[in-house]
Amino acid sequence: MVYRMNEKIIDGKKVSAEIREKIKKFGDILIKESNRTPGLAVVLVGENPASRVYVKNKIEKTKEVGFNSIEHRLDENVSEEELLSVVNKLNDDDEVQGILVQLPLPKHINADLVLDTIKPVKDVDGFHAENVGKLWSGLNSLVPCTPLGCSILLKKLNPDLSGKNAVIIGRSNIVGKPMAALLLGMNATVTIAHSRTKNIEELVKSADILVAAVGIPEMVKGNWVKKGAVVIDVGINRIDRDGKKILVGDVDYDECIENSSKITPVPGGVGPMTIACLLLNTLFTSYEQFGVAPIKLSDIFE
Ligand code: NAD
Repeated sequence: MVYRMNEKIIDGKKVSAEIREKIKKFGDILIKESNRTPGLAVVLVGENPASRVYVKNKIEKTKEVGFNSIEHRLDENVSEEELLSVVNKLNDDDEVQGILVQLPLPKHINADLVLDTIKPVKDVDGFHAENVGKLWSGLNSLVPCTPLGCSILLKKLNPDLSGKNAVIIGRSNIVGKPMAALLLGMNATVTIAHSRTKNIEELVKSADILVAAVGIPEMVKGNWVKKGAVVIDVGINRIDRDGKKILVGDVDYDECIENSSKITPVPGGVGPMTIACLLLNTLFTSYEQFGVAPIKLSDIFE
């Protein structure tokens, strides 16, 4: 049976639009108080089609909230030295408060070195080792956008997950690991499953909160999901079905919605939250860099 039950769906598109509205409001206040406009720089290397679509979207949304968008498009064969020099120029540029280097980078470039060259205060992707360390230490930091978006959706449902079991499938630096740190911060008991984990189905059956960030289309089946669980599907997979190209997540949505109490659809769940959180990070760090009294997540959600 195919379910499309509205009350179970976590509408990331709606929540992200509300967040962008708040960003515009707090951004306008900041611009007025500081007489400066936040600038978000995006560096795109090469012609990866998915990255190009994503960057185009980011630029559009950046302008919509009234921030300046600075773009650097570099050739696929750019040297590591040249890319580092672009990043260093952006680090020193007072018009730029956030720097995002779009991943993946070509193989001849050391991505870790590039990410660690970005000034931590301008690291709106939250990938710099200093920000990663702060996140795991429970200190204020710039947090990776996709897990931040997931945690905002979860907080809206239940801000304190004390006594709840959270299972994350995937241990990437971009999603799985920072998601674990955020869920610990919300007092959940956290398990991370990954490609070498043996009993994933059993682990998932124990989850009150399930976050799937694997990259395997519809891997999580309906009978894996505990009755009443909240399911956050980070996966974005393009597949062919009945002769059409469609997007599906890492969970089998039509099956998993039955046991879940809440579930994010794909598309329209986690995806739109990622860009909203990038702008949120840019707003927070701009308040800090412009020396205006800082704002907190709770200010945005009041
Ligand atoms: P990744 O490839 O870096 O990591 C995938 C993780 O899944 C790895 O840690 C690996 O150990 C684990 N894994 C692989 N096979 C597995 C298996 N059979 N069983 C259990 N675990 C397994 O991917 P990522 O960057 O973390 O992205 C994961 C998914 O999320 C992808 O579909 C990606 O497109 C999507 N994504 C979405 C957004 C968004 O904005 N919604 C952002 C980032 C990533």
